[in-house]
Amino acid sequence: MVRTTMNENREASRIGARIEAVRRRIREAERSSARPPGSVRLIAVGKTQPAHRLRAAWAAGQRDFGESYLQEALPKIAALADLDITWHFIGPIQSNKTRAIAEHFDWVHSVARLKIARRLSEQRPAALAPLNLCLQVNVSGEATKSGASLSELPELAAQVAQLPTVHLRGLMAIPAACTDPSQQRASFQRLREALDSLRRNGLQLDALSMGMSDDLEAAVAEGATLVRIGTAIFGPRP
Ligand SMILES: *Cc1c(COP(=O)(O)O)cnc(C)c1O
Repeated sequence: MVRTTMNENREASRIGARIEAVRRRIREAERSSARPPGSVRLIAVGKTQPAHRLRAAWAAGQRDFGESYLQEALPKIAALADLDITWHFIGPIQSNKTRAIAEHFDWVHSVARLKIARRLSEQRPAALAPLNLCLQVNVSGEATKSGASLSELPELAAQVAQLPTVHLRGLMAIPAACTDPSQQRASFQRLREALDSLRRNGLQLDALSMGMSDDLEAAVAEGATLVRIGTAIFGPRP
């Protein structure tokens, strides 16, 4: 039994209202780019947020949740084990964390190296469904951003697609933050073109993980199938 305070009830209805507002933004973006309604899946990014806020989002109908930090995610996954949640790992991956990620998540969006994909494949428990993977691509070309380069992507994707117990689904990017919608779209377009090119090479891929609170419209216009939204649902992070 989870006790809720009056504050938590108010907070839960605020989270529900924000989720509804984000769903409206997604529907509107789908409509204005002539994409079928429901083609974009909303991932609620709960990093730094306590489990009770994620539970409030679940009560508002949210089922996909993203986490960036493993140490923070594991206790929340345990605390919410009674809920039917699809867990997405979206943060940087160190080799010594792959086992826990392979055991506790349904999707990993931030794979940028073959070595990490191999470990996730080897460590995925046989009793679980294949682990869904996206390759993170550096579409902004900055030295500081992680992700595979566009030039190394075809070889990496071909190798990851061969691995057992993982299922390569598509690509993910976190473009450099910018407020100009046409620049936002240019980065997302590069990711979409990279996906199209891998498909022409024969890979069956269906996922484009791109778009956050401030650029989800641009991402949906360029073909996002998964948007990762934190602030617009849970408010500013501490
Ligand atoms: C934090 C984070 C998000 C959510 O960002 P908001 O701007 O809060 O919506 C999305 N993707 C990744 C990889 C993140 O780390």
